[in-house]
Amino acid sequence: ALMKGPLPSLFFCIGDPVVGNPTQHMVEQAFQAMGLPYRYITCTVDKKELASAMWGLRSLAFSGGNVTAPHKQVVLEFLDHLSEAAILSHAVNCITRQSDGTYSGDNTDGKGFLSSLERMSGEVAGKKVVILGAGGAASSIATELVLARAGEVTIVNRTSDRAVSLVKRLDNVSPTRLAIEQWLGTYVIPNDADIVVQATSVGLFSPDKCLDVSFEKTKKQLIACDVVFNPVETLFLKRARQRDCLCIDGLGMLVDQGAIAIDMWTGVQANKAVMRKALQEAFAI
Ligand code: NDP
Repeated sequence: ALMKGPLPSLFFCIGDPVVGNPTQHMVEQAFQAMGLPYRYITCTVDKKELASAMWGLRSLAFSGGNVTAPHKQVVLEFLDHLSEAAILSHAVNCITRQSDGTYSGDNTDGKGFLSSLERMSGEVAGKKVVILGAGGAASSIATELVLARAGEVTIVNRTSDRAVSLVKRLDNVSPTRLAIEQWLGTYVIPNDADIVVQATSVGLFSPDKCLDVSFEKTKKQLIACDVVFNPVETLFLKRARQRDCLCIDGLGMLVDQGAIAIDMWTGVQANKAVMRKALQEAFAI
């Protein structure tokens, strides 16, 4: 589906740094498999250039794109509409141009996580979930769990301020009970937890690093998820597997958030197998 130009739709990814970001390859492989003559390009945008970059993308009528660190929070002020998930998580990773030329922001990180989780766990409504971390990924995941009416969400974070502000934002949004646990020495995952989510950056590019957690009390069939996608099999997941947990890796979330974004941009469902293969290719380089 290569066209010599002009193309009907252009998409972007903005962040800093973007070196090693696999999304362009994943999305372009998906577009190609769908026969769509679109392009997706990744740009380094310095923090102080974010405002002008956003006006530029608007002037060039880009159809949409992704936003990555460090812009996910600041970008909110440059958009015309925000989804409930974007407001509650206070982060946007996906932008879509509407037919009237306005731009809306959403957060597909949490949605991608939820869809990869629910494939294994069934509905999360009523389930007890422990989230390790309170940064951007944790925040978008907690938001979707609350919107999906999980029974209880406990946030465990090294820095308590971040956990407190996250819980404040999500309080009373749904019947989900919210709790905060201070990280004091080894965190023992409680025996009544159904799902534990490793949502910190610990383990990223470090196959031998793992948070200080203990699986000794966990019940059978605990579902253990890791947001880290490189390496795919993190030390956290290896340790969880030794305790007979059902494991979900970060690649599933990355594929699903991308597929949800493509659906928002084009109205067409992407082939997730093609996307997962593209990510594996990107990481092998
Ligand atoms: P943030 O910087 O927003 O948050 C980082 C989190 O990690 C904080 O909770 C921080 O705790 C915690 N943390 C960092 N180092 C340590 C440590 N040594 N011990 C304990 N806690 C630590 O990052 P993001 O939330 O944006 O990203 C987190 C990870 O999620 C990254 O690896 C990213 O690649 C991945 N990710 C994966 C996605 C996917 O689709 N699979 C999507 C989005 C992100 P504190 O607040 O105390 O500093």
